[in-house]
Amino acid sequence: MYDSVIIHYGEIALKGKNRSYFENTLIKNIKKKINGKIIKYRGYFEIKLPDDSNLEEIESALKTIFGIENFSFCYTTKTDVKEIEKKAFEVIKTNKGTFKVKTKRADKSFPIKSPEFNRQLGINLEKNGVKAEITDPDYYLYVDIQQEKTYLYTKKISGLGGLPIGVSGKCVCLFSGGIDSPVAAYQMMGRGCKMILVHFYRTPEVEQKILELFELLKIYDPDIILESINFKNIQNNVIMEVSSKYRLLIYRRFMFRLAYEIAKKYKANCLCTGENLGQVASQTMKNMFVASQPIISEINVFRPLIAMDKTEIIQLAKEINTFKISIQPYEECCSFMIPKHPETHAQLKDILEYEDNLDVEELVKETIQK
Ligand code: ATP
Ligand code: MG
Repeated sequence: MYDSVIIHYGEIALKGKNRSYFENTLIKNIKKKINGKIIKYRGYFEIKLPDDSNLEEIESALKTIFGIENFSFCYTTKTDVKEIEKKAFEVIKTNKGTFKVKTKRADKSFPIKSPEFNRQLGINLEKNGVKAEITDPDYYLYVDIQQEKTYLYTKKISGLGGLPIGVSGKCVCLFSGGIDSPVAAYQMMGRGCKMILVHFYRTPEVEQKILELFELLKIYDPDIILESINFKNIQNNVIMEVSSKYRLLIYRRFMFRLAYEIAKKYKANCLCTGENLGQVASQTMKNMFVASQPIISEINVFRPLIAMDKTEIIQLAKEINTFKISIQPYEECCSFMIPKHPETHAQLKDILEYEDNLDVEELVKETIQK
């Protein structure tokens, strides 16, 4: 039986002085999903597995934690040649096919160098009637020799990679319910951001699909937050004062202002959107600048999908299961009372003139207070 899991982290190993902060954040995130004692060693963690562990559950949970490069269910033994051989044979017996030994000698005081130990262990195991194969083995027997103990395992399971959620601070994502913004939120989580999703709606209640998308992203961070803001009053005011071809941009400018208020509330240090250069009318360079202009001197605005192909975005949306929910029809508030061909190269001065006729500050304030 496996008695532990070892977890390797990638990028965070490179972080110099911040290393222990990164490691501790990752441990905290693992603890939110998995019971069991986590022991921190240099360069990896070990979780002790109680006998009644549900391995499938542990595997699925570890696959949702950013910062983990790979992990393996292991058998552990003393760092001693004879003990390792004994354990190795037990492991080999539970597997089918040919094997190849891959030793990593982290403990340099271990007397036998890795290539030599690969050979020696291979030969000794074969004496028990099992078959080694050097060029095309069915599986590898990994022997990870550490000072305290030696781990044996046959499978490295890939993790999500990236950075542990929390190490980069907080990010407010303008979260629409379309294909793109859930992917953008996922990308920012993968760079270590705690996410606050902010959704604007004009239906009487937030639509079910938004809640479903939120649940899907919760898989990666159980503490993710959703803020829903009723946008109807602002839109009604904009519709009265603004020529239809500029409305979309002015809606967007309000969205950024409101998202910035949410960022202040949670002490977030950036915003993100699902915008993608040239994808639709509102996403020309000029329009993107004009849209976020009211707040860009106050806070970072990131657009993680800016240069991706739509096919790549869809691929990712499928991988994280948001795609099938995102394509369900819903009442997109941005398309309310706007023409088929909105302005694609808006001039800031025209926009500012329209906004002069609106009490922007008051509208933001009363909307956020509701
Ligand atoms: P998405 O697939 O994310 O809806 P899109 O390609 O449909 O993006 P737009 O609808 O033009 O593009 O929206 C651009 C970005 O503006 C979105 O990715 C999102 O970040 C933000 N946004 C649009 N509508 C809303 C909304 N109702 N609530 C919150 N954010 C929104
Ligand atoms: Mg959209």
